[in-house]
Amino acid sequence: MSRDEEKGWILEGDTRIISFRVKTFQAVLDALKGLIGSKVASVLAYRMGLALGHAGLCYSRDLIHTEQDLVTVLDQVFRHRGWGRCLSLEGQRKMEKTVYVCTVAGDPECYERTSSEPVCDMLRGAIVGWLEGYLDKKTSDSVERECRSMGHEFCVFEASF
Ligand SMILES: [Zn+2]
Repeated sequence: MSRDEEKGWILEGDTRIISFRVKTFQAVLDALKGLIGSKVASVLAYRMGLALGHAGLCYSRDLIHTEQDLVTVLDQVFRHRGWGRCLSLEGQRKMEKTVYVCTVAGDPECYERTSSEPVCDMLRGAIVGWLEGYLDKKTSDSVERECRSMGHEFCVFEASF
C-alpha cells in the first residue's frame, strides 16, 4: 500500500482505494437507517453488499475451481479487506433447493454492537453476491440466522438456490 500525498490518494499497487474507520462505516449505516427507516436501510445495505459480492467474485473468478476454493478465496478476500474471517461455506441439498450456510467471524457491521435482531445485511448481500456469481443464478432467499450482535459466537448466514 502506498500514498500519493499530492493527489490525496491511497494506492494498492496502481489501484486507488479508500479507507475509513469501522465506527464511521457504522455511523453511515445508522444515518441511512435514521433517514429511510430500518427496513429499507436493510434492503439497501443488502443490495450494496450484493454488488460488492458480484464484483469480488469477478475479480477472483480465476482462483476458484472447486466449492472448496469458494470458501478459501472468500476468506482471503475478507481477511485482505478487513471484513473478518469466512470460517465455512457449504452447500447442503434440502428438498428441491441447495442451501449454502456461511459462518463469519469479525464482520465490521456488528463489531462492538448489541442488537435484538441480526444487523449484518451488507455482508449477507456480499455472500449472496459471491454465490450468485459463482453459481450463475439468483438466490431465492437469504437470512442471517445468528449474529454476534445478538450474543452468538459467529454470524451465520443461509442462502437458498
Ligand atoms: Zn451479524
